[in-house]
Amino acid sequence: MLNRKGMMMASFSVVIASSLLMGNASFVSADSHLNGDSVVAATADSTLADMPAYLKSSVEWVWKNRMLTEGSTVRKNTIFDQIFAGKGTLNYVIRWQSSKPVTLKQRQDIAKMIDRQMNHWTDHLQGYDGWPYKNIKVKVVGWAVADPSLLLNKQPDEVIYTDTITDTLASEKPEIPAALPVAPNEISRFEHFSDPNYSYPGGLDKRFDMYLWATENFGGGAGGDWGQRMNDEYVLSTVNADEIEITEHEIGHGFGLNDFYEEHERPPGGFPTNTIMWAGNSDHITDWDVWMLRYTWSQLKKDTSRFPNTTRGDEGPIDTSPDENVNIAPAATVSTSYTSSWEDISALHDGFDPTSSNDRSHAVYGNWPETGTQWVQYDFDQEYTVSQTDVYWFKDGAGVDVPKSYKIKYWNGRSWSNVKQANGLGTSADQYNTTTFTPVKTTKLRIEMVSKGSASTGILEWKVAANKL
Ligand SMILES: [Zn+2]
Repeated sequence: MLNRKGMMMASFSVVIASSLLMGNASFVSADSHLNGDSVVAATADSTLADMPAYLKSSVEWVWKNRMLTEGSTVRKNTIFDQIFAGKGTLNYVIRWQSSKPVTLKQRQDIAKMIDRQMNHWTDHLQGYDGWPYKNIKVKVVGWAVADPSLLLNKQPDEVIYTDTITDTLASEKPEIPAALPVAPNEISRFEHFSDPNYSYPGGLDKRFDMYLWATENFGGGAGGDWGQRMNDEYVLSTVNADEIEITEHEIGHGFGLNDFYEEHERPPGGFPTNTIMWAGNSDHITDWDVWMLRYTWSQLKKDTSRFPNTTRGDEGPIDTSPDENVNIAPAATVSTSYTSSWEDISALHDGFDPTSSNDRSHAVYGNWPETGTQWVQYDFDQEYTVSQTDVYWFKDGAGVDVPKSYKIKYWNGRSWSNVKQANGLGTSADQYNTTTFTPVKTTKLRIEMVSKGSASTGILEWKVAANKL
């Protein structure tokens, strides 16, 4: 458990000019501590009728006089909305506005931590009033950091964004780093949730819903449907704690739950239990918080255009835990018949989704000036069952073009065989070309490509989907 008893952090309001990711954010500052009291158990198959009587009047009062009045769930980007749009998943970018280095272990722990904090809330929705999900799968899909060398021992499958904007909070508070890292606007759900026809480059899986935003010398916390912002040291020092007070509180704002700083903001007569949403009043989620969250869900789900499919009938809750497929390319050793000396074969599995076939913002594989049949190959240190690959071709308009044709081959233990029933084999520029085929168990895969006339060939990214073990 987090023990920061006695620490008092000043109240403040945050003004951030980042054009990205602010909108109707709500903010919190924290906190002095009283101890919360009750421990909450999830109740299966319950409805609003099961709300304990002693919680009823205060929960209803807050919904009516705070949440409805302030419109805190009006934007269709609450965490409820995000989870539905992501089919039971939430994707995070870690926004590292700090000069502190982060080890691989710390990055892995941060990913587990944010998953744990989110599920501390959403576990209480399992089996409740049509909520269709079990465990919510929370993924870190990228890190935004001004200086990428801070991410120690970077792995090939880690996605790093290094663009920055100026944090105007730094002009008020010079101890705050002025460089504010940003992830690309085009993969942000916050920027696109109101457009039902928007499609994310690289697919839904590549979007990010929220930032976990760690700022050096930041006091307190801030939260909204854009994410949660805390002090960098707070994030690092609490990363292995079970329930993390400020982080959980800020996530609460993402569901539309309010602060209770002023007496007139609280139910008449006060709360029947402590609540984590009253900063400093509880260091964990209480029964009151659970039922406020559930009550909110019961109200929002009445809008069936906003939350379709809440009644699942015999199908039962959607379990997102077993992944149907994972991209195993990052685990491969890469080789090729030829690479231009200034290009890089590791581009194939660096995890970067290009924005076009001439996207040179990351490493690129090309075999100029070679022509004819060339190949690239993945070697795995174990056998995988593989049934799909996705290729993003490189085309620079200057000697490298998409191929005339290509084959996908697998190692059958003795020699290379063509995959069977290959469906796809596209050569379109500016997109992934998906090919599916009869599943094969193998340790090696190859693309054998035939160049178009006098042009050479190249690839920006090659993904291989395998059944998760
Ligand atoms: Zn707050």
